[in-house]
Amino acid sequence: MPKDYKTMWSGLDMNLTAHEGLLGVLTDAYKNIYLSQRNRPEGMKYFDFVISEVHGLRIEEILEAKKEKRKVIGTFCVYVPEELILAVDGVDIGLCAGAEVGTDEAEKYIPRNTCALIKAFMGFKLAGLCPYIQTTDLIVGETTCDGKKKAYEIFNELTGGKVYVMEVPNKKDADGLLLWRNEVKRFAKKLEELSNKKINLEKLKEASQIVKEKRRALQRLSLLRAFDPSPVSGLDALLINQVSFYDDPVRFTEKLTELCDELDERVKKGTGVTEKGSKRILISGSPMAIPNWKLHAIIEGCKASVVGEESCVGERNFMASLDDGFSSVEEGIQKIADRYMNIHCACFTPNEERMKDIGDMTRRLKAGGVIHYAIQFCTPYMMEAYKAKKVVDIMKVPFLRIETDYSMEDMGQLKTRIEAFLEMMGDGVHE
Ligand code: SF4
Ligand code: SF4
Repeated sequence: MPKDYKTMWSGLDMNLTAHEGLLGVLTDAYKNIYLSQRNRPEGMKYFDFVISEVHGLRIEEILEAKKEKRKVIGTFCVYVPEELILAVDGVDIGLCAGAEVGTDEAEKYIPRNTCALIKAFMGFKLAGLCPYIQTTDLIVGETTCDGKKKAYEIFNELTGGKVYVMEVPNKKDADGLLLWRNEVKRFAKKLEELSNKKINLEKLKEASQIVKEKRRALQRLSLLRAFDPSPVSGLDALLINQVSFYDDPVRFTEKLTELCDELDERVKKGTGVTEKGSKRILISGSPMAIPNWKLHAIIEGCKASVVGEESCVGERNFMASLDDGFSSVEEGIQKIADRYMNIHCACFTPNEERMKDIGDMTRRLKAGGVIHYAIQFCTPYMMEAYKAKKVVDIMKVPFLRIETDYSMEDMGQLKTRIEAFLEMMGDGVHE
């Protein structure tokens, strides 16, 4: 019998009736999309459990942390340095949302033609459906795309002034780097004030190590997906990446490492989730926040394998490494800032590094086709699809451009387009 969390949710001022409906829909979707997969690794049981307790046990843990005077920091973007949050004993929670929820409410505040991700985080708050937002002490926004930047002003009102905004520059030149280093320093100061704790070298090193190990485990998972057949489905790999944004980082790394050990064994035996020689797809573009599983579910439902995500819920989150050979807090903060400038979001101009990443990932993961995914109205990624296609065309790899939202209305149409694309791909492996 699952534990009853109603008292906890009501203490967080949530809409219990609507929330029950949401959990019901999520549980059904998870059963249909995830639990129906064949031949899943044993290690996925942990992640199934995490999902089953997504608004339960993890929220309980966060409330326990708050009792110990630890601060809960909600974030929306992979530019927000996790190391600094952990260095003041904070709990870092990704707040991006991947379901069509509270849309009518959200559209009272923001235009209809806003991307689904922004509408979703506004909608979750307005509909009283997100326990994570309710537990936060600080919500960190950033000046990446215009939609988010302006939405945070409204979100600040809706959350009683919890939003703090980091300025992310538009260009990766010397001035941009200087601005960003100063922003990261300012953020460190803000965290110190909020937590009433001073960041010291020992804490910063310890936090950097925790995040480094988490990234290393995610990198290992990514490398394992290069094998044919891939030892894990794209759906499961996506889920792991989504969970990495809100699970306890030490436990997450431990469980993912166990899973990767199991995947190593699968590779040795040639065991995979699809047949050897199945068509291999790289997804590139806008982030897929939990529970946005739509595109992966369609592709893998057509017996192809998603082998990588050039996305913030994916490679962009863990690809860049931190140079942790620092010997003072000041130097550490600067190296952390520099590490985060090495993420290649479409909000930057120019953004040739992302194009290189797409080419590199296509080769490394032996993808036979690239699907560029942009959330509708996500201008930065919709625009960059043009350049991404050019890179992939040169490699003579088929490219498909998709723009969609979180609704299920276009599922049939997307399936038809993806089936035709897979058909046209031929034998499917790019050497
Ligand atoms: S796509 Fe850009 S704005 Fe969105 S999470 Fe990634 S880095 Fe941040
Ligand atoms: S998906 Fe695109 S438009 Fe939406 S918040 Fe992210 S960068 Fe902005």
